[in-house]
Amino acid sequence: MPESKGRFGIHGGQYIPETLMNAVIELERAYDHYKNDPDFNRELTELFNSYAGRPSLLYYAEKLTRELGGAKIYLKREDLNHTGSHKINNVLGQALLAKKMGKTRLIAETGAGQHGVATATAAALLDMECVVFMGEEDTKRQALNVYRMKLLGSEVIPVRTGTATLKDAVSEAMREWTSRIDDTHYCLGSVMGPHPFPTIVRDFQAVISREARAQILEAEGRLPDAVIACVGGGSNAIGSFYHFIPDESVKLIGCEAAGRGIDTFETAATVNTGRLGIFHGMKSYFCQDEYGQIAPVYSISAGLDYPGIGPEHAHLHDIGRAEYVPVTDEAAVNAFEYLSRTEGIIPAIESAHAVAYAMKLAPTLDKDKIIIITISGRGDKDCAAIARYRGEDIYE
Ligand SMILES: *Cc1c(COP(=O)(O)O)cnc(C)c1O
Repeated sequence: MPESKGRFGIHGGQYIPETLMNAVIELERAYDHYKNDPDFNRELTELFNSYAGRPSLLYYAEKLTRELGGAKIYLKREDLNHTGSHKINNVLGQALLAKKMGKTRLIAETGAGQHGVATATAAALLDMECVVFMGEEDTKRQALNVYRMKLLGSEVIPVRTGTATLKDAVSEAMREWTSRIDDTHYCLGSVMGPHPFPTIVRDFQAVISREARAQILEAEGRLPDAVIACVGGGSNAIGSFYHFIPDESVKLIGCEAAGRGIDTFETAATVNTGRLGIFHGMKSYFCQDEYGQIAPVYSISAGLDYPGIGPEHAHLHDIGRAEYVPVTDEAAVNAFEYLSRTEGIIPAIESAHAVAYAMKLAPTLDKDKIIIITISGRGDKDCAAIARYRGEDIYE
């Protein structure tokens, strides 16, 4: 096994069955070629700009800044992208890569359905077949997204194994890829899984910090003091951090879903409560029980309740370059409502975790400090759930 490849410190790697090795090697070779191919990059930029709506705005949240009374706050508006989140960045990149590789079929896993919908969208646009694996539990909770994927021409396969949620959908998609690699690309949704996925997804999401770095230099003539993003698997966060990693003065802060609190069993805060382990093809930190089994995780936010974290984040944590803080459901819901009221921007409940931490941090900083918060997605999808959380029942 190529132990040196795809390592971030001790994390990452390729812990996969022999049967998956060929698929992963083929993908790695293709990516190594196309990432430097001017035509590929031109086509991807064209899709980003003319289809996804990039570059996304870096918005100065003046009212939020004034009310919190500390650091100047900018929002990187990934919620304005087509399909409503950062997921489209990765999906357009991988779908285009798959097409160049001669693949005609995409498969994907999805939890809440956001990545599934984004993949179904790219498949429709690029004229590819698409099959999405989704835990049966999730297909019931997210019936509207199941309908969207079908409307976009994709097939949705409910997964009944395990807890019938996201981690089982990932396992099933990997199994399917093993049995059909000739015409199929596995479009993985976050910076996780075996090498080269964490690198590929990171590179496609890095457009967030490439833009944000240039935009803040343009607006303020200097770098920010902190960049804050929510972390599920970690793709919007690594995309937001990446081009700031060499800038030692910029604090990088990932916000994990603490659920009902990191001292309860109902949490998904991997760095804060997890341990080193190997799962889904990678070495990283995972929420585990006392026997080392992957623990059931919980968060109000379906996009953050994955029991692991991408290997590059695990490494940035180990070396102290990034900090990972837990944010509870309650704090996230408060932030969801607060940003809506103050700026007229309804953030995804995932992104609200980042807003919540910024609401704590900003007032402790001087007025000449600058914070960028990544708003990874829009919150329309969450309104019914938040209403229910507040004891109000509305029909979707
Ligand atoms: C999927 C999703 C996330 C979590 O995934 P990451 O890979 O950690 O970015 C966060 N925000 C939104 C809006 C999402 O759809």
